[in-house]
Amino acid sequence: MTGEQIMTIATGEARPITTWFAGGWFTCPWCGAANPPKVQHCDNPACWASTYATADRVRAEQERIARQHAEHEQRRSAVEAHTAAQQRCQEERAALWQRRVATANERGACLTCLRRSRWETQPLYRRHRRPDFHDTEP
Ligand SMILES: [Zn+2]
Ligand SMILES: [Zn+2]
Repeated sequence: MTGEQIMTIATGEARPITTWFAGGWFTCPWCGAANPPKVQHCDNPACWASTYATADRVRAEQERIARQHAEHEQRRSAVEAHTAAQQRCQEERAALWQRRVATANERGACLTCLRRSRWETQPLYRRHRRPDFHDTEP
């Protein structure tokens, strides 16, 4: 066999046929349907390489698919940005808590009280005279 076999669609775009079977059957490079030997158009009526496909319809579908991809991509990156921001926020909060704990330890302050306080903005560093202060709470 000489030269590359191609399958052309209504818009004039072509793809090479790369998958061949016994007897000259081949897989349509546009839709994946099996086609009999030597046909110029795809047997699948929904395929862009089918005789039913018009250039207008193919272009409209190509545009729709491109739009869908763009929208999908936009959504995906928005979700990613949101997740990254959330992650950063959690990491910052965890780091802040670690600094508060370090301060509390320096001052010999109670971690239970610190945890109960608005430790992000108004950390409460309390020292209890009795170490079992919270154990006797109701
Ligand atoms: Zn096809
Ligand atoms: Zn306490």
